[in-house]
Amino acid sequence: MDYAGFFEQQLGSLRDEGRYRVFADLARHQGQFPKAARYKPDGSVSDVTVWCSNDYLGMGQNPDVIAAMTAAIKQCGAGAGGTRNISGTNHHHVELERELADLHGKEAALIFTSGYVSNWASLGTLASKLPGCAVFSDADNHASMIEGIRHSKAERHIWKHNDPEDLDRLLSQVDPDRPKLVAFESVYSMDGDISPIAEICDVAEKHNALTYLDEVHAVGMYGPRGGGVAEREGIMDRLDVIEGTLGKAFGVMGGYITASTQLCDFVRSFASGFIFTTALPPAVAAGAISSIRHLKQSDTERLKQREMVAALRTGLDKAGIPHMPNDSHIVPVMVGDAVKCKWISDWLLDNAGIYVQPINYPTVPKGTERLRFTPTPLHSQADIEHLVSALNELWSQCALARAVA
Ligand SMILES: *Cc1c(COP(=O)(O)O)cnc(C)c1O
Repeated sequence: MDYAGFFEQQLGSLRDEGRYRVFADLARHQGQFPKAARYKPDGSVSDVTVWCSNDYLGMGQNPDVIAAMTAAIKQCGAGAGGTRNISGTNHHHVELERELADLHGKEAALIFTSGYVSNWASLGTLASKLPGCAVFSDADNHASMIEGIRHSKAERHIWKHNDPEDLDRLLSQVDPDRPKLVAFESVYSMDGDISPIAEICDVAEKHNALTYLDEVHAVGMYGPRGGGVAEREGIMDRLDVIEGTLGKAFGVMGGYITASTQLCDFVRSFASGFIFTTALPPAVAAGAISSIRHLKQSDTERLKQREMVAALRTGLDKAGIPHMPNDSHIVPVMVGDAVKCKWISDWLLDNAGIYVQPINYPTVPKGTERLRFTPTPLHSQADIEHLVSALNELWSQCALARAVA
């Protein structure tokens, strides 16, 4: 076997399809979000405005969050020093789990090293340990949920995206006495659409299925205390498990589930991806606590963020740049071609100091390649005008389709 040749050939086919991933080498400027320095391959450095951050509210730069992290490092040192079981449980972790349980109105919470791990470990453990479990997964679920479900080796049924009727049809075909797990998201982050949570719960309840909701793109963003879409709709108690991340709107890192005491204790006790890995650094937990507490009592960031989303959409409309309508904070601009999408992104970065990553297959289906803009409360009206005028120029240069007014 020619190992090196194999790797090269595989990478070559990614390049040919225009979906070879190139990372932008950035240094974020604390206090100047969303500005960053970009380190170019030739060694030079330039200023860019980041337009695709999942630090949706700029909480990664919030002075209280930074102060909490700094204080925790001074108090506890750098790392946790072990797995949660063997000396790694720090008081900050315990406090964070209380804060999260309260956020979602649940009895308990369990934190993981990332949202990916929380989905993979929790879904994997529930689906493999519940005897004869059948899993019902929305067709557009995130890779971390898919991998967890696959890893469980449980029987899988994929229901049509956001379609409670299809879910009902599939649930009806499985023995009513078998355990069932319905897994879905609230905000789907590539199209920015929001699921009909209440209708899905109606169907799941009818079939006595457990419900597992990924609110990764909604926590901190929706609901009066940032508890997510289920909080906004007053139905958090209808979900058996609410999963979230500390790495997106909360601006830090880590993932979690919230649920009943027994369910959290079960995952804590049986999930390999929880047990056999070093706990989050205490300072990360302290930063997350500060961020969650802030967003529980402050609507300022959420309101300003919505204002900037509306302003960007208005600007795009005026310039005739087509963008996908949705009810969330995500503004997808469809390009529909991997090579063009990457070319536009490179042009914006090199010529306009605008950083928006091209979103290509397998993150989205082929033919739906796009730019995904995430305005934050810290983008200015001038940032928006600069972005829209650069896109306008590109749309003329490349003879891209305009939106029909
Ligand atoms: C980003 C993401 C995750 C993973 O969360 P991380 O904390 O980044 O690991 C899980 N689910 C969805 C829907 C996501 O978009």
